[in-house]
Amino acid sequence: MTHDVISGGQSIHAPDNLKKLLQSILQQALTVNDGKVADYIPALAEVKSDYCALTVATLDGKVTSVGDASTPFSIQSISKIFGLMLAMERMGDSLWERVQMEPSGQPFNSIVQLEWERGIPRNPMINAGAILVSDVLVSHYSASKSAVLSMVRGLCNRDTVGVDSRVHESEKDHGARNAALAYLMKSFGNIESDVEEVLDHYFWQCALTMSTEDLARSFAFLANRGKCPRSGKQITSHRDAQRINALLSTSGMYDQSGQFAFTVGLPAKSGVGGGIVAIVPDYGVIAAWSPPLNSFGNSARGMAMIRNLANQLGLSVY
Ligand code: GLN
Repeated sequence: MTHDVISGGQSIHAPDNLKKLLQSILQQALTVNDGKVADYIPALAEVKSDYCALTVATLDGKVTSVGDASTPFSIQSISKIFGLMLAMERMGDSLWERVQMEPSGQPFNSIVQLEWERGIPRNPMINAGAILVSDVLVSHYSASKSAVLSMVRGLCNRDTVGVDSRVHESEKDHGARNAALAYLMKSFGNIESDVEEVLDHYFWQCALTMSTEDLARSFAFLANRGKCPRSGKQITSHRDAQRINALLSTSGMYDQSGQFAFTVGLPAKSGVGGGIVAIVPDYGVIAAWSPPLNSFGNSARGMAMIRNLANQLGLSVY
């Protein structure tokens, strides 16, 4: 696949041209006004709705950003990828006996399907699947939070990446539905550890704070066959990187994944903090942030920015 788009005789990937393109895409996104900031916990409801950021990190090490790209925000469900990486490494193929790899076609926090399917979540990107993955981490790591944190810090090369403890605590206080998912799985024998400990890990992970620049750097290995382009370190096998990208393509944008594949055509993951990361194999990573969400829980402006950029640069993998 080539991504050489020529604009006015110059490559769009020359840093100046790319920056100009990102700027015009961000300006255009600011006219999208149909989202609503997540309000299921006060700590997220208070975030200013007009934050907006767009970053592109290419495999040659260049990071081009516009807007609030160095402001850390709650990455929420984007963290499901980090948990999954560690669980895949620990469990190998046996992980897929406890969680499926199918799109759910349901909202990210839906419960009904989980009972029909006897406590086996549809995929690791919906809440039930990520809670199951959290159980694997709590059961198989002596310090599951440190394992995630040190991996994340290494991936984005920033030792100060942290967790918003207010978000962590209020997720716990308002976590009845996630607790219901976890106890339902426990009743089917699909959760090994103490449910409260598993939920604590899950909520903690959702409360990680990173900027679009951190996110774009962190996930570069997924665009680079599992190898971090900065350090040269093999983070996952090429096969696991392909598998994670496949799951992101089919389930990363919840029950809007089909529409995202149709209109954008990239593996991607969103979070209710308003962040979205999209992987462009053999090219790089696009990360967007804008807090107001559409009815699927995906950032309205973030979707618009990634769609515009992918379409203008011809980045679809299909
Ligand atoms: N913390 C959120 C929840 O569990 C994460 C969901 C999301 O980002 N889609 O409901």
